[in-house]
Amino acid sequence: MALPVHLPTRQNCPMPTSAQPLAPPKLSAPQKALRKLGLVRDIDLALHLPLRYEDETRIVRLRDARHGDLVQVEAEVTHSEVSFRPRRQLLVTLFDGSDQCVLRFFNFYPSQQKQMAVGARLRVRGEVRGGLTGWTMMHPVVRAAGGDLPASLTPVYSTVAALPQAYLRKAVLAGLARADLSETIAQPCLDQVNQLASWGLRDALTFLHLPTPDVSLSQLEDRTHPAWHRLKAEELLAQQLSQFEARREREHLRAPPLVAARGGLHEKLLSVLPFGLTGAQRRVGEEIARDLSHVQPMHRLLQGDVGSGKTVVAALAAAIAIDAGWQCALMAPTEILAEQHFAKLAEWLSPLLQERGQRVAWLTGSQKKKARGEMLALIASGEAALIVGTHAVIQEQVSFFKLGLAVIDEQHRFGVQQRLDLRKKTAGSGGEAREPHLLMMSATPIPRTLAMSYYADLDVSTLDELPPGRTPVVTKLVAAHRRDEVIERIRSQITQGRQVYWVCPLIEESEALDLRNATETHDELAAALPGVAIGLLHSRMPTADKKQVMAKFTSGETLVLVSTTVIEVGVDVPNASLMVIEHAERFGLSQLHQLRGRVGRGSAASACILLYEAPEGGRLSESARARLKAMVETSDGFEIARRDLDIRGPGEFMGARQSGAALLRFADLTEDADLLAWAQQAAPLMLTRYPNLARLHIERWLGGKAEYLKA
Ligand code: ADP
Ligand code: MG
Repeated sequence: MALPVHLPTRQNCPMPTSAQPLAPPKLSAPQKALRKLGLVRDIDLALHLPLRYEDETRIVRLRDARHGDLVQVEAEVTHSEVSFRPRRQLLVTLFDGSDQCVLRFFNFYPSQQKQMAVGARLRVRGEVRGGLTGWTMMHPVVRAAGGDLPASLTPVYSTVAALPQAYLRKAVLAGLARADLSETIAQPCLDQVNQLASWGLRDALTFLHLPTPDVSLSQLEDRTHPAWHRLKAEELLAQQLSQFEARREREHLRAPPLVAARGGLHEKLLSVLPFGLTGAQRRVGEEIARDLSHVQPMHRLLQGDVGSGKTVVAALAAAIAIDAGWQCALMAPTEILAEQHFAKLAEWLSPLLQERGQRVAWLTGSQKKKARGEMLALIASGEAALIVGTHAVIQEQVSFFKLGLAVIDEQHRFGVQQRLDLRKKTAGSGGEAREPHLLMMSATPIPRTLAMSYYADLDVSTLDELPPGRTPVVTKLVAAHRRDEVIERIRSQITQGRQVYWVCPLIEESEALDLRNATETHDELAAALPGVAIGLLHSRMPTADKKQVMAKFTSGETLVLVSTTVIEVGVDVPNASLMVIEHAERFGLSQLHQLRGRVGRGSAASACILLYEAPEGGRLSESARARLKAMVETSDGFEIARRDLDIRGPGEFMGARQSGAALLRFADLTEDADLLAWAQQAAPLMLTRYPNLARLHIERWLGGKAEYLKA
């Protein structure tokens, strides 16, 4: 007998080891689709949970079916015909020994007709309808009767066109089988939650992909089954671990300690301010001063409603940094806002800095090359102690002499990458690498549940008090057809020496249309209010023109400012007492709130008028109504934020922070508050006592995305 000889075949022939690189394997369409859905690693596949389930485990007798049930029956074809009334259709009658049912097909192939010939035994799955006139099913799934019934419910996954359900199902179950799902939660942590230990991750996932038919579907759907609990607990723990880890990593980083000296620059600044600080500003200022004095970099979010006076808090922090011999950079999302900061900070700080031979620098993308070069030199030499600008501040060419503190205004308008870039601007040159302290400011308060989860690695200071002398803004909803009354109101405000904003919505699809809109409104108001100086501010205007328009309004030369949402942030004109927002239903809630914050800054009674218009022939959408209602009912920024979260859900609320980051997919911060509290307790324990498990857990759940949660 011949011995088997192994001849080199295409399969087992060793790969050529020549220098020629191997072409990357070509991906099939479904493979590409998997990748697009982010289903790359085995664990990604295992965590791709079904949208719903179909029950193919049972054969139902027709007599026991109820109208509307999705059932599977086995029956024999007793009659088959193609009918032409009311239109061409195939009608197939089945009898399963208990009752009969007519299958109806409007589209069918000859092969199907053959499959369903009289006498054939079929297994049919579909929704039964009817009753009195007998059962019918439209376009059911049909195959030959017999064969094994599956032991579990059939999962149905969310997918895309290029990825057939059957392919995806196979891939997911294969991923589940291969994935490393060893226990990563330490026993003492498991023991703290009921049933957590008895449902391991593998058990939970296997169950959720292939539930046994006896399970209550409602428990699966409302996510209250213990398998769901396990999954949510895992997810929340991963999130908390990554946040706690970020915090611990920061503890190992070094920043220059910036200690506020007695009689130092910040005290001098306080003495030249035209007002005294509010209690909240004092408290927050102390929190920041304490952070700055530490050798760990500060990572603090200063949240305070529009008009709560965040700028002066930032100025005081800058003064401490400068006094300690370091530079401070302040970055704002738009040029107009940066300009306003520059004007204000220069007014307060320039005279004081001058005495020390220092100054405030201005940096923006639209700057002339020469001016920019001068600024860069000032920044590099350290003569510029405070640098104010747009994102130009973090560009590569900018090299600081000794950056000790970075302030980001309206932080949510910056991308994650920009914040990471800023942190990479190391403080000082040479010696050990040090990070600048980081102060982020936001007028959009973060609701508590979000703060506890997504922002757990941040320290948060809150300005919960407005400066004195503010008058509450009265908010009114006015239908668009009452525009004339609104114009009358503008007239009366102007007669009283007040100023008015009129905001037109930005039309995303068409900047040209958007400009026309604002221009038309401008002309309309000019015609209605002869002799009144009216400015027009539009996002497409050259920066220099924008500045001019803004300056005229600030000085009171123009009395009405028509603008697209460029005035959204930061603008400060205390004499303005009326804000009109056209098509208010198109704005987001926090945007409306920010716009409204532009008035009510002086002592005059102020109002905000929300002009709304339902789309032609329709009604305002549910969420538009909820937004307008919230605006009328409250002016409390925290309440607004809470309602905004309700209306939009955390995904959108988080804005830039979640881009590319792991948002919670399974847990719900409101419903799973208990599990969140558990995860917050468990995370530090895991990190100190079970660091290996913790690392595995983070890697499994977040993969490469953890970085984003730390920015
Ligand atoms: P925001 O928090 O929205 O950035 P700003 O810093 O622009 O608010 O402050 C709004 C206005 O209130 C500015 O004109 C500022 O000078 C003024 N302001 C800030 N703090 C006080 C205070 N303690 N007393 C009086 N006015 C203040
Ligand atoms: Mg501000």
